[in-house]
Amino acid sequence: MSDIRVRFAPSPTGMLHVGGARTALFNWLFARHGGGTFILRIEDTDRARSTEEAVAIIIDGLRWLGLDWDEGPGAGGDRGPYFQSQRSAIYDRHVERLLAAGAAYEAEGAIRFRMPKSPCLVRDLICGDVRFDRADEPDIVIRRSDGSPVFHLVNVIDDLEMGITHVIRGEDHLSNTPKHLALFDALGAPAPSYAHIPLILNPDGSKMSKRDEGASIGEYMRAAFVPEAVRNYLCLLGWSPKDDREILAIDEVRQRFDLGHVNRANARFDLKKLAWMNGQYLRAMPVSEIRELARPLLAAAQLADGDTDPAYTEAVIGLFREKLQRADELPARVAYFFRDEFPIEPDAAARLAEPASRESIRLLIPALEAAADFSAAATEATVRALATETGRKAAAFIHPCRAAVSGSTAGPSLFHMLEVLGRDRVLARLRAAVS
Ligand code: GLU
Repeated sequence: MSDIRVRFAPSPTGMLHVGGARTALFNWLFARHGGGTFILRIEDTDRARSTEEAVAIIIDGLRWLGLDWDEGPGAGGDRGPYFQSQRSAIYDRHVERLLAAGAAYEAEGAIRFRMPKSPCLVRDLICGDVRFDRADEPDIVIRRSDGSPVFHLVNVIDDLEMGITHVIRGEDHLSNTPKHLALFDALGAPAPSYAHIPLILNPDGSKMSKRDEGASIGEYMRAAFVPEAVRNYLCLLGWSPKDDREILAIDEVRQRFDLGHVNRANARFDLKKLAWMNGQYLRAMPVSEIRELARPLLAAAQLADGDTDPAYTEAVIGLFREKLQRADELPARVAYFFRDEFPIEPDAAARLAEPASRESIRLLIPALEAAADFSAAATEATVRALATETGRKAAAFIHPCRAAVSGSTAGPSLFHMLEVLGRDRVLARLRAAVS
């Protein structure tokens, strides 16, 4: 164990934003790299917004990303998190001290902190030296007249009480740091080191907000992204191993992570890149795990459920895996494997309306009925033999067959698809197409 102690200190807002998740991740990586301690502290002094549900969203998101924290209030195995709403006695005690020392005073029922007016230098581990002129900084309220403590106060007291050595947080807090340094000073404690992580921008350069597509970790959870893929992508939002590799095992990132390699420029969020990365992870997973991941999505679309043969579902997924980027693409693409009523796309319908297509299907039915088995190799041999025998191109059979069995003109390799669908489904669909 080292002496490093860091924390992720989210305010419950009802979502876990990609930026917040990255802050949590960088804290976690920094702690795990150095054998330090990672703390989760819920900054829930705004009681109106801090519902149980909003807290659960943060905790579920962190668990999903595999970001475990090390300590919390309570004894023994209780691993927190800490809640600021449960710590008011600690804040009151410090406010009394500030009042007694003359560093704070009462005004209109509230308590204000006497802000020093001297310039302040923040020696940031990522942003470098940043100078602030505090001449016009007003004396800030640290406790409201209703007795509730203000963010700046509780943030600093907790960093002090929890022995935080490094404050790693979003760059939006850089301008708060001069206030925080002044509070540390008045509390007679050395300030931790600060590392402010640059912002995350949308592809168009605008600041990523709550409402932007891909902004919420919950979206990825619901869309059944691979959590390791999302985490891998977040690692690269502002940090890089200084070579071109992008698919990185978390253990390697943990070993190599350091704040000195966090980029000073803003990071750009790119959902397409994240989806690509997710596809890379999907391809490296056993099909059984993809089935497990896609299970809620297939169930919600009323395709595969608990009664569906898992081997069948896996065979279906196996047909799509090479091109799949996101598990939530599956329901729309695999419906015809699970349902006999499936939509016929317009170009497939047009194909099936051609007399030549119908003739091909009529010839194909008895040939496939006679096929020794329904392996891809056997059906392919059957179609090729039929083509030779009738003097047509194999494509004259392949395209109508695909349209008839899947309702689409695109999809996985036809013969593999026939193998998975099986003789009964294929023949029934071919007969229906010409009846
Ligand atoms: N509660 C603050 C936030 O969510 C935390 C700031 C900090 O990490 O110091 O932005």
